[in-house]
Amino acid sequence: MAILNKLGKKFNCLAKNAVQKSSEVMEITKLNLNINTEEDALNDLFIKLGKYCFEKYTNGDITDNTVAELCEEVKIHQENISYFREKIREIKNQIICASCGKENLKTNEVCSKCGKSLAVKDEITDVEKNEKSEQEPERNENDTGASENQ
Ligand SMILES: [Zn+2]
Repeated sequence: MAILNKLGKKFNCLAKNAVQKSSEVMEITKLNLNINTEEDALNDLFIKLGKYCFEKYTNGDITDNTVAELCEEVKIHQENISYFREKIREIKNQIICASCGKENLKTNEVCSKCGKSLAVKDEITDVEKNEKSEQEPERNENDTGASENQ
């Protein structure tokens, strides 16, 4: 009987440990969720901060070298995005309305959104296109090994 009692006590102890362990796990899970929430908030704030700095830099209000370098990188990616968007429009045979920015088929005479003539718009788009095709956007070839260079 003494052995059984001992075993019983041991099981009790293990069960208590298991309960304690699982409440610890739950507590850690909760804390990790809190950390994730805070990190999301931080990331949002850093994005806002970055956009604010970019605006300031674009307006000439910031002359800091590091900010300037990063903002110039941002501009390269922005140019790449508009280049790729333009390519998609070419494939889809679309033009952008000068008045409202809506994408329209090149065959349309007026904008499907605002109803303004696309003919004038067409010339503007062609000019833009010529400018764009002459200067391909800079590719960021420094992507690999950039960190080693710094
Ligand atoms: Zn329009």
